[in-house]
Formats: sequence, structure tokens, C-alpha cells
Amino acid sequence: MIDTKKLFQKIVEGVKNSGVGSKIKEMRPLSYNQVNTYVTCPSKYRFSYLQTAVADTADETTVKGAQLVFYNVLTRTLKDAYKSGTIAPLAQIISIFERYWVPSDFRDPSEEIKYREEGKKILENYFQLNKDEKGKVAQTVSWKDKDKKFPALDQKVLVQFGDVKMSERINRIMVLPDGSYESVIYRMSRPWGTDLRPALFLAAAKKLFPFRRHKITYYYLRENKKVVCDIKKDITEKLNIMVKSVATGIVKGEFSPDKGSWCAICNFRSSCSMWAGFKIERGRFRLSYSKMNVFLNCPRQYRFIYVDKVRTKPHSFFSIGTSIHEAFESFYDYDGIMKRPRIGYLLRLLKASWKSDGYIEDGVNEQEYYKKAEKMIKNYYKTFVEKNKFRKAYKIEEYFELPIGKKGLMTGFIDRLDENEDGSYEIMDYKTEPKWPDEKIMDDHKLQLTLYWWACKEGKLTPVPPSALSLFMLEFDKKVTFFPNITGSDLKKDDIDINKMIDENVALVDKTVEEIEKCLALFKDGGHHPDESFPPKENVWCSHCDFRFDCPLFATEKKL
Ligand code: SF4
Ligand code: SF4
Repeated sequence: MIDTKKLFQKIVEGVKNSGVGSKIKEMRPLSYNQVNTYVTCPSKYRFSYLQTAVADTADETTVKGAQLVFYNVLTRTLKDAYKSGTIAPLAQIISIFERYWVPSDFRDPSEEIKYREEGKKILENYFQLNKDEKGKVAQTVSWKDKDKKFPALDQKVLVQFGDVKMSERINRIMVLPDGSYESVIYRMSRPWGTDLRPALFLAAAKKLFPFRRHKITYYYLRENKKVVCDIKKDITEKLNIMVKSVATGIVKGEFSPDKGSWCAICNFRSSCSMWAGFKIERGRFRLSYSKMNVFLNCPRQYRFIYVDKVRTKPHSFFSIGTSIHEAFESFYDYDGIMKRPRIGYLLRLLKASWKSDGYIEDGVNEQEYYKKAEKMIKNYYKTFVEKNKFRKAYKIEEYFELPIGKKGLMTGFIDRLDENEDGSYEIMDYKTEPKWPDEKIMDDHKLQLTLYWWACKEGKLTPVPPSALSLFMLEFDKKVTFFPNITGSDLKKDDIDINKMIDENVALVDKTVEEIEKCLALFKDGGHHPDESFPPKENVWCSHCDFRFDCPLFATEKKL
């Protein structure tokens, strides 16, 4: 059924939006970083590029100065090293590096020395790998004087993406012996998540050298490794959609804050309305529920992921969970003209949010998983949507930070917060696990729900603390609801003795932080083998562990 009020609102919006297209065409070129900032948080974009807000200072979590200086010096050095068209001798490269080196922006002299030595090592390794490189730096003509040519180093290019103008910079463009072109982009490390930027680099390279064959290469300086980017058509399409929606948001003046874990590295937090009244306690140990569980299950695995920062492999069970969560996220943010969105809409959302990562690696059939996800979604719709009045969620994927105990800062996202018709609030958490939780796992879930309840109360995420805490066990088409009991007396079967559970959370976080800090201290003192400081601990998840073949407990498997 159509909601006539919403239909009217949409018509008004449509009238207001006419003229957006021509404003987009008049916009100044956007950089990829600007687009990315807007996608992360539109308000941060406004602070960074449109307002002269004073950035926060002296917060170790927000200062990225040292790394930025380091990257800039390395790329400037490599730019000069290729000025003749091929790589300069190593001694010359090192002398350029020394000339560009900036001793400021480091926390102390020992940090400066560490970076400086690392810089030299990176350049030495780079030189050894590239000294016999075939090909020459391509030459571009000056826009002022067509007879003048310049090496294509640190090239700034303007590209038209649909109606949006974009600016991009390519570190180095080479002409290879077979006549094709290679654009090299220096990076310190591999990007997280889906990286659409190679499509922009390709468009920029083609604009500079049309009618040529091109490839885009990322050079990871720390790893001293070159990787050719696989730019599929859908990457270009996704970038197009992203750029267009960002440009539309900017010209329409849409700059609402979007709170998330990225706030921890935002320099405008003290000016941000989302954190008004929130006391930032510096120096607390940031811990999410999953990070804490990784440590409790196995300190060695924790070290790999959070200390060595080794990237975990994609897995089918993560992909199906993320896809379903994302589909629900959009579903409960429905802003269309129907009183209740249809099942077809939810299924289309599932299709759009489907992640294909990890199925091949896990040796399972992706199609079967997709069918399974469809079944869960259809059952959910039938049981929980069809028979009820549809209400847009009060909040979705709500991020929180909660100081706990002596040293901990718990961070996390709450899947969904609902406001009920009677004005009460309910926490909703989706679970896609294939087994019904045993008592121990259910107790863990209760502990986690308590944490969410506490975060709502302390962070004022809801006007009054939630009165129900629910889990959707999607595989079983069941909703399990617990009720917070504040007095701890007259406890019913589904009650949670909330204050007792809060105390349990505090004790657990304090103990875990203390243990992690001990492990880190041992690890940093350098006198211990890493396995001694973060010892392996066999557990039920070992069979799924990405680090099993590097684990001393399973060393014999490796030899087989
Ligand atoms: S603190 Fe978070 S919500 Fe606020 S502007 Fe920064 S990123 Fe956005
Ligand atoms: S295989 Fe098991 S014990 Fe070894 S690192 Fe992984 S989780 Fe830890």
C-alpha cells in the first residue's frame, strides 16, 4: 500500500533536486581522498574542505604526521631518482633522501632515527629490485609549449567521470619495451577493503596517453613488491556511482555526521555534534568485543592480526554474515512511498550487498550459500515483517565507545535500535551462526547485549535505556529476547541481571587488557621469542585459523 504523505514528500524533493545536474558540472574537481572522506563521513568532509574548523591536536590517535612525512619524503626521493628517465645510482638516491629528510613531526629522536633508517633500507631494497628495470619514463608535453617535454613523474591529471570532474596524481608513468604504458603508484602498504581508485588512475593514464595499452601497478614500498591492479568493468561502474552520489550530496548540502570507528582518527571530533558531551579519555586501551575474544581464544592469533597486522583471509561465513547484515541495514532505512517495503525489495538488497569473497578459498559452493541466505531472509520477512507494522529503525549500525574499568575503551556497532510504539527501545542483533548456541555461547551473547545496553545508557544512544535485548537467530527463524532487570531481584527466566553482568564485563575487560599489555611489554622488550610473549592456545576454531601453518602447535602438519 502506498503512503500518500511520503509520496507528496518525494514530489517536493524531486522539484527541489532539479538543477542538481548543472551544479555538479560547475563543481571544482574532486580528488579521490575528498570522495573517500565524504563516503566515510559527510560532516568530516565539510570540516576538512569547506569550513575552517580547528583540528584537534596532541591526540596520539589522531596524529598521522610521522607516517605522512615519511611517505612524502620517499615519493619525492623516487621522483627525483627517475628524472633522467631511468633509475639513478643508489648513492645518489640516498643523498636525495637525506636532502629531503625532515626531522620534525616525529614524537622523539628515537622515532626519527627509526624512520630514517627504515627509509634508507626501503630505498636500498627498491634499488636492488629495480636497477635492471626495462623501459623508460614516458615524456609528456607542456600545456604551454608543445615543443617542451617533461618526464611523466608525479603527474597531475584532470579526468571527467560522468558529469563530475576529478583530479588524480600518478607517481610515475613508464613506456615499456613493447610500447605499452605502466603507471606506477607508490603505497606504503596494501589498501583495506574494496579499492576503486585504480579505475581513476587508469582513466587518468588514458587521458594523458590516449590510444595506448595501459596497466596500473601498485608498488608496496615496505614489502618491496609490485602488484598489477586487476581493473574489472564493475570497479569503474562502482566508482562512477560513488563519485556521482558524493557530488550530488555536496551540491545538495548534505553533510550529516556519520559516526563510526573512523571517529577515532578524526581530527574534528571535539567540534563534532555526535560527540558533544562525550569525554574523550586518552590512553585507554581500545578493544572491541571480537578483538577481545580473539585474544581470549588465542593470544598468538591476536598477535598476528592486531600486532603484526597480517591480513586475515576472506571466509564464506564472514561474507554471508556481512551480506545479510548490509541488506537489513538498507531495509530498515527504507524511505520509499510504500507503507511496508515488499519482500522483493529485501531480496534485491541481498543481491546488491552480496559478497563473493572466501567461497573458493573455503572450498564451498557460493550459490548454495546464496540460496541459504535467501531462505533466511524470506523466513525472516514472513515471521517478523509481514504480520507487523513496518517501522524504520531508530538507529542502524550505531557506533559506540564506552570506557570500561580501569583502562579499557570498548568500541562496537549495534546492529539495530528500534523505537517501539509505546516509546520504549529495543536492541536488535542478527546472528547467522549455523548452530543453536549452547549455554556458554548464550552467556557470551548476554554479556555482549549487556555491553550494548550499557553503551546506550552511558552514551545516551537512546533517550531512555532499552527495555528489551533481542537476538535474531536467522538460521532458525527465531527471536530470543532478554529483559534487563536493574534491581537483580525477582529474576524471571528471560531476565538479565544487568548490574551483575556489567560487573562481569568490567572484570573481563580489566583482566584482558592487563594480559594483553603484559604480552605487548614482553614482545616489545625484544628479549623474548614472539611465541613466548603471545603463546598459542589450542581451541575449537584452530581448524579455521588462517595462521595454522605458522603455528608451533601444528608445525608437523606443515612438514607433511
Ligand atoms: S568525529 Fe566522526 S562523526 Fe564527527 S566529523 Fe569526525 S568522522 Fe564524522
Ligand atoms: S592454529 Fe590455533 S593455536 Fe595456532 S594460532 Fe591459530 S588459533 Fe592459535
